Order: sequence, then C-alpha cells, then structure tokens
Amino acid sequence: MPPKPITIDCLIVGGGIAGCACAVHLARHGLQVVVLERPPTRPQCFGESLAPAARPLVHELGLDLDREHSICPGNLAAWGSDALYHHDFLATPYGHGWHLNRPHFEQQLRQRGLGLGVTFSSVSISYLERQSERWIMGVGEQLFQTRWLIEATGRARWLARRLGIQTQIDGPKQLGLVAMLEPQAQPWPDQRSLVEAVADGWWYVARVPQAQMASIFIGHPTATQRQKLVHAEGWWQALKCSTWAKQWLDQHQLCAQPYWVDASSSRLDRCYGNGWLAIGDAAMSYDPLAAHGITVGLTSARDAAQCLIAANQGSIAALHGYGHQIEQAWQAYRQLRQQIYAQEQRWPDRPFWQPR
Ligand SMILES: Cc1cc2nc3c(=O)[nH]c(=O)nc-3n(C[C@H](O)[C@H](O)[C@H](O)COP(=O)(O)OP(=O)(O)OC[C@H]3O[C@@H](n4cnc5c(N)ncnc54)[C@H](O)[C@@H]3O)c2cc1C
Repeated sequence: MPPKPITIDCLIVGGGIAGCACAVHLARHGLQVVVLERPPTRPQCFGESLAPAARPLVHELGLDLDREHSICPGNLAAWGSDALYHHDFLATPYGHGWHLNRPHFEQQLRQRGLGLGVTFSSVSISYLERQSERWIMGVGEQLFQTRWLIEATGRARWLARRLGIQTQIDGPKQLGLVAMLEPQAQPWPDQRSLVEAVADGWWYVARVPQAQMASIFIGHPTATQRQKLVHAEGWWQALKCSTWAKQWLDQHQLCAQPYWVDASSSRLDRCYGNGWLAIGDAAMSYDPLAAHGITVGLTSARDAAQCLIAANQGSIAALHGYGHQIEQAWQAYRQLRQQIYAQEQRWPDRPFWQPR
C-alpha cells in the first residue's frame, strides 16, 4: 500500500535566505512548514553587504546582526569619473548597513525557523503532482500533500523549471568574478564598500567579517578571458587596470582561486500560479550593482508569507497583489539600473558599457 500523505501547510524548496525567512514568517503564524534544502555546490561567500533599508525586515525576523556581522557605514564610488564619492549611510533614516557573514546569517535564520517548529530536510522531491487544489509530493520515502509550494531555489529556479515556467534574462549577460583575500599585515582600516568602474566592467571591494576582503569583478568576458582571470596572475593583472581597487587590495593575498558566478538580471515569466509562488532570486535576480538582492529576498519572503496567509483565509486577490508588488519592484529596479549605468560615459566604445 502506498504511504498515507502527511498534510502540511507549505513546502518551500530552497533553504537560502529567502526560503528560510519565508519559513520563519509562516511558522510564526502557526503554519506547518517543511523546507527542502540542498547544500550549495560552491561556497556562497560573495561578501554581500546588507542595505540599511533591510533593518525593519531583520527586526521582524527577530535577528540581531550587530554582534556577528560587521557594520557598513557607507559606500565609496568612482563612477563616471576617477574621483571618489562618499555615500554616508548614517545620513539615511535607517543608519548603518552590514557586511554579512553569509553562512552565519543563513544559520541564524535556520535556527530561528527550527525554534518555531520548521522542518528542514535535505532530501529532494522525486515526484510531484497537482490533484484538486493540492500538491502531492514524494520526498524520499515520505509522501506530502500541501496547498502551497514556494520556489526559493535562487537563480537555479529548480521548481519553476519543473513547473515549466521560463526565465527571462533582462539586459546583457554578465558574470561576477568572486575572490576572497586576506591581509598580509594589518586588516584594511576602512569599513565602507568600494565600487569602481573600469573599461571592461566594474569592481566591488569590501572588508567582510574575519578581516578578509571580498572582491567582485563584474564584466562580460570571452571564454579565453574567463580562463585567464581565474588564475592569480591574470586576476592581479586585471586589478592593475583599476585606480582605487588595486590600492585597497595591494597588501593582500588571494585565499583561494577566484570563481565566476552569474550576475545577469533575470526573472521568471510568472512569479505565482495555482498553489505556488516564487520568492527571492528565483522570482527576480538583480544586478549586484544594486546591492539589494538580499533585501529583495527578505521583502518577497515576508510578502509571500502574508499573501499565502490571506489566501488561506479566502482572499483570492492576495496572489495578484503579490504579483503586482513584484512587478512594481522590478520596474523600479530596471529604471534605476539604467540610470546608474548611463552615468558612466567614459568608455562608449567598450562592449561592457553599451547602453542597456
Ligand atoms: C556576485 C554577486 C554579488 C552580490 N552582492 C550582493 C550584495 O552586496 N548585497 C545584496 O543584498 N545582494 C547581493 N547579491 C544578491 C544576493 O546574493 C542574492 O539576492 C541572494 O543570495 C538571494 O537569496 P535567495 O535565498 O533567493 O537565493 P540563494 O541564496 O541562491 O538560495 C537558494 C538556495 O536554494 C538551494 N537550492 C538550489 N536548488 C535546489 C533544489 N533543487 N532543491 C533544494 N534546494 C535547492 C541552494 O543550494 C541555495 O541554498 C549578489 C549576487 C551576486 C551574484
């Protein structure tokens, strides 16, 4: 006899920031939630900074970031000219931002979820079927039934692909070359992040927790350039083309081989449907220039949870409302991205700086 399905309120696929945050919000409202997670194949250490605007979202989740993550008081940018401009976060209504210890942040969210009764499992879905307003899923030996599925697998968009939803890339394809460095002597004294435009893309450099420096080069290199840049010699050579980034990283050494990640803007054709919603990067992935992906992940996780609770209480407009919020956020992001890239006019002939 096939096993009797276990009924839960929601199954979330993907235990990253968005998936865990959504689980916390749902569990706080007494919903039974299972999160299916898969350890990342690569270290997820982009040295991300969390914008000050995320402060209320972090509080809602009951987290304290000041102790375990380092403070980011603002940004420095050489964009449109070689001069450095300072954007002071302390002048914003939310105060400082943070440089995240990313694995620890995910762990904090996971612990919060566990404390509220969320179940985490590293077993994958082997079978998925829609039956009269319910999903039936085989997860290892278990059979689950639920009204709601949440797609939170980030840029992998595993669940959306399984549901036949397409991904749209918006603007040029671009890649991020991630490198972590450690100081040879003293840790870099500046806690601000640096963004610097160069002829073939731009650099991001920031001191992250444990005194390491995170550096990301964003560009759209050829296959040959990609191969060259992951080797220390090619990487240091590329860094030399900068004015400021090379000064920040001069007294450092690479901790490991740099690696490429997708850094294009993309989103799903649809971010919700019958009995499912997409959140975080799965719904829409921003250009890292926005430094806003985590804030979007936390916002969409909260909004999706509210939508799902309202829909459970009979509000059929809730899903459309969620779709509308995502659409508005996406349009605002696209406009801002275009404005910021248009401010850099020094290299009109270089492929990276073609109008987007
Ligand atoms: C180079 C770069 C720099 C960035 N810098 C910043 C920054 O400074 N500030 C900022 O706010 N944002 C930044 N971002 C964006 C930020 O990293 C993302 O927006 C954020 O990680 C999205 O979180 P998520 O939970 O939606 O997705 P993810 O973090 O990708 O989590 C998805 C999870 O799903 C899991 N998964 C995948 N497939 C499956 C499956 N089949 N079954 C189960 N689990 C699965 C993955 O292992 C992962 O744990 C940057 C992004 C890039 C690429």
